[in-house]
Amino acid sequence: MNPKEKIKEILRKLIKEYPRPKTALTFKTPFELLVATILSAQTTDVHVNKVTESLFKKYKSAKDYAEVPLDVLRKDISSINFYNNKAKHIQASAKMLIERFNATVPKTMDELTSLPGVARKTANIVLSDVYGVYEGIAVDTHVKRLSLRLGLTNHDDPVKIEKDLMEITPKGEWGNLSHLLILHGRKICQAKNPRHQECVLYDICPSRNI
Ligand code: SF4
Repeated sequence: MNPKEKIKEILRKLIKEYPRPKTALTFKTPFELLVATILSAQTTDVHVNKVTESLFKKYKSAKDYAEVPLDVLRKDISSINFYNNKAKHIQASAKMLIERFNATVPKTMDELTSLPGVARKTANIVLSDVYGVYEGIAVDTHVKRLSLRLGLTNHDDPVKIEKDLMEITPKGEWGNLSHLLILHGRKICQAKNPRHQECVLYDICPSRNI
């Protein structure tokens, strides 16, 4: 099976397991997803959702985040890993959105990654989940681990992994692929003790004996 056939088979099998792949982060607006995704680095989506439940009631717009004293914002997200930097990035992004993008979350990779604290992973999530725009594939820790185990890449660097995945995956599936690998990584192909015997990818996985 060549790599393009293999990725189609992976998508076919995983979509049966997870019929509605989407982010586990809770949001109602593009800016809320941007904030939630910045908060989610090194933090579980469950914990981010707990924090944003009250955060999104308190802060309704980019202007609210831009104008609040930084110490207050820091305190509001202080149970999140790296809250100090994340508060700075969220406030700086909110200010830049107002100054350069008419307070609207932009729709291109270049514009999104010009925001403080927004790298390709965050930009890909926002572009695909909010706008249905596919400029790349979000590579988080699960996507990285599964891509390596499934033999879809030999690289460790997320940007190189993303490039390898983009070369073999139909563009319309870029968003789905990321979500499906994340869901499967959480449920079955966990970092420690992957559950090979329960895995629908067992037959086509070169790491089934690890
Ligand atoms: S067979 Fe094992 S290593 Fe391969 S994807 Fe499934 S759980 Fe992960």
